[in-house]
Amino acid sequence: KLRNAHEPEFLQAVQEVAETVLPYIAQHEIYNGKNILLRMVEPERAIMFRVPWVDDEGEIHVNRGYRIQMNSAIGPYKGGLRFHPTVNMSILKFLAFEQVFKNSLTTLPMGGGKGGSDFDPKGKSDDEIMRFCHSFMAELARHIGPNTDVPAGDIGVGSREIGFLFGMYRKIRNEFTGVLTGKGLSWGGSLIRPEATGYGTVYFAENMLETKGEKIEGKTVVISGSGNVAQYAAEKVLQLGGKVVTLSDSSGYIYDKDGIDEDKLKFVMELKNEKRGRISEYVKEYPNAEFTEGGTPWGVACDVALPCATQNELNGEDAKKLLDNGCICVSEGANMPCTPDAVNTFLDHKILFAPGKASNAGGVATSGLEMSQNSLRVSWTREEVDERLKGIMKNIHASCIEYGKEGDFVNYVKGANIAGFVKVADAMLAQGVV
Ligand code: NDP
Repeated sequence: KLRNAHEPEFLQAVQEVAETVLPYIAQHEIYNGKNILLRMVEPERAIMFRVPWVDDEGEIHVNRGYRIQMNSAIGPYKGGLRFHPTVNMSILKFLAFEQVFKNSLTTLPMGGGKGGSDFDPKGKSDDEIMRFCHSFMAELARHIGPNTDVPAGDIGVGSREIGFLFGMYRKIRNEFTGVLTGKGLSWGGSLIRPEATGYGTVYFAENMLETKGEKIEGKTVVISGSGNVAQYAAEKVLQLGGKVVTLSDSSGYIYDKDGIDEDKLKFVMELKNEKRGRISEYVKEYPNAEFTEGGTPWGVACDVALPCATQNELNGEDAKKLLDNGCICVSEGANMPCTPDAVNTFLDHKILFAPGKASNAGGVATSGLEMSQNSLRVSWTREEVDERLKGIMKNIHASCIEYGKEGDFVNYVKGANIAGFVKVADAMLAQGVV
């Protein structure tokens, strides 16, 4: 705690894992006394670098770039890049730490990492984004590779940015390899990768609901965010017969009591992905809906909540509101969107609650499938990838039950932490103190 005192998000993520994993270590002779968690919380490597770039007016800017290579005991480092002004060491270390457990849960051979920059893509032209991405990769290229570290997208890094990053990597290294995931289909990408995190979050919710004899069909669903994860979570809810009533961005949320149907979702996708507009513009197109500036959607009545925007976006008060309004299931699409207070409120009331490291693992799992396709130089069909994704989410759900069952109740937080821990810890023990 002393060493990382200035890193609150990282401490929060470690605390949550330690609370469930330390008792497990104490009960199991092979892990006890090996300081295994202490070794896991220290990144194998944390790289920080200067990213200079020139805007359209010719002015020079400098941002800070990072790559946290957290743990490679079970495979090359794998995890997204985030471009957002709030990016700092604490945020990236929390994300990289979570990623180690998440990647382990997928059962694919991937270690954990995370990176990004405090660069703000909002309001920048395509040319400015390109120049920034090229400068970022000019340094990052020396630290990554298809067998070393394979970054992907995250907040502020979508297919456009992955394209610019890949272009510069290919130029510098003079090789075409699967060094990034989330690539375009014609240059090494995988079908279903854009959809995978959102779809997986809903598949996980469906798996949890099944244990209670329930399903998404007919349920009212509240979603936050309106980026990659939120859009495809909404799409899958609609496909399964649920009703989506909210979406949000950092300026506020929209509530559409009639439901956001396929046509309305198509409008949102164009608005966010092509026009790069604000969610408030939804109510101009659909005046029956309401926009609440600066708010989050957790006060809206629902059966299922899918927080898909960012960390700590749902607090203890929000959790109480959701419970009062009859919510029975929360599946995290974002990383650590629920504060510790909120998580404890859900666990105390024994509702179905899935932590992101389990429920949003579909994205990185499908990135793992993209890496396999790149290595084999094949492309699987949409149905093939979707079936594998469904199977992986089902297996993660089963692992959570195996390690998280407490009588009639499944503590998915405990289940995910221990299941993720065991595989990495076993590999670290086998490889000695390195
Ligand atoms: P996007 O950049 O596509 O979308 C992010 C969304 O969250 C936007 O609607 C954005 O609004 C909103 N948001 C971002 N920061 C804040 C904030 N501080 N307050 C309120 N809203 C905010 O990112 P993704 O959809 O890819 O990522 C969303 C979450 O899912 C993140 O936690 C990410 O780590 C996690 N995740 C993503 C995966 C992926 O495959 N993409 C995989 C696993 C997890 P605005 O436009 O106003 O900024």
